Order: sequence, then structure tokens, then C-alpha cells
Amino acid sequence: MMTPREFMTKLQTCKTQQSLIILGIIGISTLAIVAFYTRFTGFVRGVFVVFWIALIITVGQFISAFLLRRHGLVCSSCGQLLEKVEIVQTHKCPKCQMEVIRDA
Ligand SMILES: [Zn+2]
Repeated sequence: MMTPREFMTKLQTCKTQQSLIILGIIGISTLAIVAFYTRFTGFVRGVFVVFWIALIITVGQFISAFLLRRHGLVCSSCGQLLEKVEIVQTHKCPKCQMEVIRDA
């Protein structure tokens, strides 16, 4: 069982790492977009951009889930990812209501 303080520290670490990784992906993406964008025209160009944005969001969610699991921010009862700051107030898993945080 985590204390509220541990929870906040872990969550903060996750968010920081996630931001850095996503910034890296966006950096690489920009290069890829510049490289490919000029090859497409009209409709295909629009589809390419939408597809690329969707890909970044999907990858971002995967990274988020991966980091939360790695830091143990996952409900031991139902497997729900504990990514919401409100949990520090409720002390409970938002899905199954099991206590996941306890005051030290
Ligand atoms: Zn749960």
C-alpha cells in the first residue's frame, strides 16, 4: 500500500518521463512529416496527417500505461491504471473502489 506522498511522487515521475518521451516522438515525427509531406498532395496529404496524429496519440497512451505499470501505479485488485490525481483524495481505485492509498 502506498502513502499519498509516494503516490504523488510516482505519478509525477511517470508524467515527466512520459512528457520527455512524447517530446522525443514529436521531434522525430516532425522530421518524418517534413520528409514525406511534400510527396503527397491533396486528399492523401490530409489522410497522412490525420493518421500520423492518431499514431502519436496511440503510442502516447501505450507509453503512459507502460510507465504507470512500471511504477506500480496499477490497482492490485482489478488492474485499473491509477493515473488520476484525485485518487490521492479518495484513496480508492476509481473502478473497483478498493483502497489503494493509505496514510502513513
Ligand atoms: Zn481496482
